[in-house]
Amino acid sequence: MSRLVTLIPGDGIGPEVTQAARLVADATGVPLEWEVVEAGERTIRTQGTPLPETVLESIRRTRLALKGPITTPIGGGFRSVNVALRQQLDLYASVRPARAIAGEGTRYPDVDLIVVREATEGLYSGVEHWVDRDHTAAESVAVVTRKASDRIIRFAFELARREHRRKVTAVHKANIMKTTGGLFQTAFREIARQYPDIASEERLIDNMCMQLAKKPEEYDVIVTTNLFGDILSDLCAGLAGGLGIAPGALYGENIAVFEPVHGSAPKYAGLDKADPVAEILCLELLLRYIGETEAADRVFRAVYETILEKKVVTYDLALPGYTQRPVPPSSCSAMAKEIARKVPLVDLTRPLPKRRVEASTAIDSHLME
Ligand code: NAD
Repeated sequence: MSRLVTLIPGDGIGPEVTQAARLVADATGVPLEWEVVEAGERTIRTQGTPLPETVLESIRRTRLALKGPITTPIGGGFRSVNVALRQQLDLYASVRPARAIAGEGTRYPDVDLIVVREATEGLYSGVEHWVDRDHTAAESVAVVTRKASDRIIRFAFELARREHRRKVTAVHKANIMKTTGGLFQTAFREIARQYPDIASEERLIDNMCMQLAKKPEEYDVIVTTNLFGDILSDLCAGLAGGLGIAPGALYGENIAVFEPVHGSAPKYAGLDKADPVAEILCLELLLRYIGETEAADRVFRAVYETILEKKVVTYDLALPGYTQRPVPPSSCSAMAKEIARKVPLVDLTRPLPKRRVEASTAIDSHLME
């Protein structure tokens, strides 16, 4: 029996990268049936809203979605579809693995960490207003609740346990934001005590950025609030080789939406130029989530070998850094075809490089301003 999946192609490069993921999905032989629904700029024009009810209805029914990026107008205009989707479906855990695939394209070949971000509240709660009539002052409210903090922190520890990770680092700014940050910190300390098998530590957000730039290989699972998580996951994507290869997942209770970290990259829309890897690795996460472990392993291995070979790679992977000498860039569709071609052929018995993260076992609270 085939598994129904909601597919949201999205805006900009979204249709191209989701098409690439579908091609690779077909190559796995896993019977997925795609229910394609539109959201974003196109539906603003056709339906007057970037998030039609049909999209929410489809995901509520299938409980599973693969999503392309969606454009959010900066400043005025519509509220972010991405934020609205997370809040309306209570997709509270945004999970963004940052792994230096093939150990290249980065000064940090040992990066292998997961950012777990609370995705429904914090400074993205949407409570914002002008203070005066002349619009010379504005306020934004950060909503942090004990319920949502407990839920995301527990999620991070459970994930660490499941994935045999050794350490969870909480990131906050409790020294300045004493109530919101303090609440998150208190929740973390209490829950960490329930997981004595996993090391725990805390970092202030500013120190964390510096630590990640210096020695990202020391971090394993990072759990944090909405805004800090948004920023840290792009930073970690950069450390691991770039937005073009960074997948993500959003989890609620028995519901999951898989979407890349990157946005709609409008300047590349329609050029068949964007890197399809992030969306294809979202497919890998989706396959793993539904228990299709071998298919997921095949997809990862096919991506890994394609990047390692450097014969059919998009422009971002053809640049010096990824390669000793520049190679001619391939198109998004050509790279997708190459990955799809490899999926049934890859040898899963060949070992992948081992993770080199050795988390400290000590519990420390290194809070530096
Ligand atoms: P972006 O991620 O779209 O692009 C930033 C830069 O990263 C691009 O110019 C490009 O150089 C590179 N890049 C991104 N994806 C790539 C890929 N697949 N292959 C190769 N290079 C890639 O970020 P932005 O320009 O800040 O945002 C554009 C739009 O996307 C905005 O409207 C923003 O709100 C939206 N956005 C959506 C999501 C989402 O849907 N989850 C996430 C982030 C941004």
